[in-house]
Amino acid sequence: MTRLFNDPTVFADEMIEGFVAASSRWVRPVSGGVVRRSPAPEGSVAVVIGGGSGHYPAFAGLVGDGLAHGAAMGNLFASPSAQQVHAVAAATERGGGVLLTYGNYAGDVLNFDQAQERLRAEGIACETVTVTDDISSAPAGDRARRRGIAGDLAVFKAASAAADAGYDLAGVARVARAANERTRSFGVAFSGCTLPGADEPLFTVPEGRMAIGLGIHGEPGIGEADLPSADELALLFVDALLGEMPDGIAAEGSRAAVILNGLGSVKYEELFVVYRRVALLLAERGVTIVEPEVGELCTSFDMAGASLTLFWLDDELERLWRAPADAPGYSKRHHDIVGLADDAPADLEAGIPLATPASLEAAATAGRAIEAIAAVIEEHAEELGRIDAVAGDGDHGIGMRRGASSANREAAAVLARGAGLGTALERAGDAWAARAGGTSGALWGVILRTAGSALGDADRPTAGAVAAAVTAASDAVRAFGKAELGDKTMVDVLVPFAESLAARAADGPLAAAWAGAAADARVAAAATADLLPRIGRARPHAEKSLGTPDAGAVSLALIVTAVAEVLDQEGSGA
Ligand code: ADP
Ligand code: MG
Repeated sequence: MTRLFNDPTVFADEMIEGFVAASSRWVRPVSGGVVRRSPAPEGSVAVVIGGGSGHYPAFAGLVGDGLAHGAAMGNLFASPSAQQVHAVAAATERGGGVLLTYGNYAGDVLNFDQAQERLRAEGIACETVTVTDDISSAPAGDRARRRGIAGDLAVFKAASAAADAGYDLAGVARVARAANERTRSFGVAFSGCTLPGADEPLFTVPEGRMAIGLGIHGEPGIGEADLPSADELALLFVDALLGEMPDGIAAEGSRAAVILNGLGSVKYEELFVVYRRVALLLAERGVTIVEPEVGELCTSFDMAGASLTLFWLDDELERLWRAPADAPGYSKRHHDIVGLADDAPADLEAGIPLATPASLEAAATAGRAIEAIAAVIEEHAEELGRIDAVAGDGDHGIGMRRGASSANREAAAVLARGAGLGTALERAGDAWAARAGGTSGALWGVILRTAGSALGDADRPTAGAVAAAVTAASDAVRAFGKAELGDKTMVDVLVPFAESLAARAADGPLAAAWAGAAADARVAAAATADLLPRIGRARPHAEKSLGTPDAGAVSLALIVTAVAEVLDQEGSGA
């Protein structure tokens, strides 16, 4: 039972006030809920979650870096209103649109849908992905009707990490849908919960018995059984979930994130005893467990119960699951992902679109160019860090090295699987953004993805087509990062480089045009030494940076110069 409260009718409000007071290093209150303390970069997608109160750390405890941008907080077990959802979304929106994602319950759907309509009417792009992980709430053929329980975390985490990696709204929604497709949960309860001030529990389970598949608000389950041992419960969980694999995935040889969730009054120690057997059983069935979570991640007041969630990963979802996060109720440390790219399995799930032979040839050139980029960044990483440290935070070399090397690995992997030019660049961009972190990581993701989608997989591009793709990338960086010429950023090199390339490509082969434009880029990079930063991390230390070029401008010039050498060796005229 819930023992500590004042006036039960204001319990949720008082709880929210206390939560906010205790969590101000991660979140700040807004009308309708809470949002991240430090806003995401302009142009990025905002992930807004929410639901009734009483499920902590869902939902407000899952707002923070690497996790949701905002949470709408309803009353006890009651959906937030459309006004609340709208207000939280409006407070987090940064120009890249909003993804609403939450557990699939009728009241939530009604209110979030209304909020979505309102946002769209105001010109804010908005998509919705409801979480439907609970396999006991509707048959497999009727997945859209299923409710969301602890698997919420898998979907929220993947979508939010994608948003922080610079994915656009369509990309974030795609990731959220894919994560939901691949997430299944199954839960049991041993006793109901009692809301503050209530005389009776919301529901009861007979003494010594277990309700199977009971929902987190006491919604009916699918059966009842005698209280099992911890090992028996582990077997029930694993059998149920392996009995309903997502389409096209076999347990044997697959990788899965595992969440063993306590509903409120099952002890962590009990959960660990259950998890011990869960891990053994999954290993026996050939499943590789990736960064499991055991603890309270979606509760139901003082309900005694537990659920197991399996989140079947592909390469992209694994990266997103493992990305760092820091929220009041959930954190994942940065070093968790160091070395990931080295042991990450090749992505066998996402298909590689068919490419023409001409595009395959061009893709091979791009592969060598990306290899040269990784090499030149490796060689200059320390110097780039030193330059960034003059007025920024000194991490530019580290970030660029992480991004370029993982882009290189990803490009090599997809080329081996027959990727064309456009796909190879897009996938390299995804890998770069997902691993690099920092502003420059997101922007290099944008550059490679934009150029890739402009070039496509259909032919070997002409010099003019390459110049047009570089111009598109330059425009996208300006749209996404909002920096203007003279702000002392990579834009001060990217724009003149794109313009020079376009002019030269009009009357010459690609290699010569690129070499000339790269020379212009070096001049432009050196000239940033005379500028005062007006944007980004370097801005507060503006004067210190006079006389030193911008780190991102220097790395860009190094990169286009390395690519010029590759094009020259290939004699790759259009
Ligand atoms: P962070 O700034 O997050 O530490 P990095 O150190 O990796 O990221 O990258 C810093 C570089 O990013 C800067 O030198 C600058 O060239 C570039 N940059 C920062 N903000 C912007 C922006 N809004 N638009 C374009 N480039 C930017
Ligand atoms: Mg930096």
